[in-house]
Amino acid sequence: NHLPGDPEIENHRRQVRNASYSIVQPARVHNPRLGAASREAAGLIDLSMDTVNSPEFLEIFSGNRLLPDMVPFATCYGGHQFGTWAGQLGDGRAINLGEIINREGQRWAIQLKGAGPTPYSRSADGLAVLRSSVREFLCSEAMFHLGVPTTRALSLITTGEEVLRDMFYDGHPKMEPGAIVTRLAPSFTRFGSFQIHSSREETDLLKKLVDYTIKTDFPELGTPSPRVYLEWFNTVCTTTVDMIVHWMRVGFVHGVMNTDNMSILGLTIDYGPYGWLENYDPNWTPNTTDAQGRRYSFGKQPDIALWNLTQLAKAISPIINDVDALAQSLEVYRNRFQDGSQNMMALKLGLTHFKPETDPALMAALLDLLQLVETDMTLFFRQLAMVDPSKTVSPMEFSAAYYQPEQLTKPYVDRFDDWFKRYGQRLTLDSSDPGTRQQRMNQVNPKYVLRNYLAQLAIDQAEQGDFSGVTELLQVMRHPYDDQPGNQRFAEKRPEWARNRPGCSMLSCSS
Ligand code: AMP
Ligand code: MG
Ligand code: MG
Repeated sequence: NHLPGDPEIENHRRQVRNASYSIVQPARVHNPRLGAASREAAGLIDLSMDTVNSPEFLEIFSGNRLLPDMVPFATCYGGHQFGTWAGQLGDGRAINLGEIINREGQRWAIQLKGAGPTPYSRSADGLAVLRSSVREFLCSEAMFHLGVPTTRALSLITTGEEVLRDMFYDGHPKMEPGAIVTRLAPSFTRFGSFQIHSSREETDLLKKLVDYTIKTDFPELGTPSPRVYLEWFNTVCTTTVDMIVHWMRVGFVHGVMNTDNMSILGLTIDYGPYGWLENYDPNWTPNTTDAQGRRYSFGKQPDIALWNLTQLAKAISPIINDVDALAQSLEVYRNRFQDGSQNMMALKLGLTHFKPETDPALMAALLDLLQLVETDMTLFFRQLAMVDPSKTVSPMEFSAAYYQPEQLTKPYVDRFDDWFKRYGQRLTLDSSDPGTRQQRMNQVNPKYVLRNYLAQLAIDQAEQGDFSGVTELLQVMRHPYDDQPGNQRFAEKRPEWARNRPGCSMLSCSS
């Protein structure tokens, strides 16, 4: 593929210059066991579940055995972390096994996460703990089933190794079970993959990587040229916007939108201290590391994505003749985000189309209302499809969504009534009948999301060696928009005991 590799072939930590990747060897693990697997993801690389359950699968996807054509490698990238340039980062605990062209001619890159140190591991161990691996596994597949662009998770394997994360837990070091998640994506290239070469003034290499990316991941753009570079950047802006609009639709907060965690394909990537909005609050972030600045809170995600795209634009500017055109693409991002989020909100409200005269105010008033008392966003929108705004709507119809019913005082109820009157009037301008409206709304407003406490309960079980909770959650998340009569307990607001429990609402980056 003509991208230069690192001439050294030892896993020791180092700065890797003039190279896009390093050949590495996954670490051996003693006792690999399959915790969970996604049959849909297996299908992407033409594997049956029989194969997934075989001893060979376990050996290969724990990194213990390489197939004859596999030359495992880790890639070099940099990134802005929390707004500051951090230099070389790279795949510190991700090892690429290679790529597969499936029966349908689609190319899938296969990557083990947590398979041991690489030249990019810096001061860390290259491993992943079970708790964060369950979270990555479940959320990747949940996002896919929700219709959100994402990297995929094929399997979750426990390694039988113990991993140290917290030196001072209850006064002594805490060991946690190690795990490996196998991820699939057409490409794992990040904004930071380009930034690193640009920051080192490796302009030839930057150009090679851009050309390679366009040829392999954006073939529809044609032969790379300065004009095509601009089109490519435009496409990256577009797919990134579309991903963010989906995040805002389903209430997903990534938590660490550093430029090294931004996929060049507009896929959600690197599930760490992410979280799902419970009560609607634009200032909420699950990431304790970000609790002060709230740089990556729910409501800031659109602006941060734009900031990240601006860093990408700067990184590729050395190979672009027309730098003003890059700035125009960023302007296109702004407009596309505005249109996309307005249309998305119109769909969530069951409107057939967005009306610029009335709808921005209607939407803003609703988002205010949701914050006035603690209101579960997912449950609120799901219930909204059930009410009949041509009659008087009572807050009691939304009781399942309120975290603190005692907050429903008269001023709230007045605002509530007022909003529903406006909403009812607005719906009369829309021609669709209530049944059709409900159906449409239920296709964009999920009933089931990967609630933080649900994932944590599955983790608690998995840490005892029981993966049935993980499998059950995966099964529920396969059909997030359907009413699943036996699974009502997965569609309920967070219980009070989980409000401040670690893992249930707040998470640290350590994983
Ligand atoms: P993240 O915050 O998870 O996106 O990671 C930022 C950088 O740290 C990436 O280069 C990761 O590969 C690296 N990293 C995170 N955790 C580990 C670990 N346990 N061992 C080695 N590198 C890691
Ligand atoms: Mg990362
Ligand atoms: Mg990570």
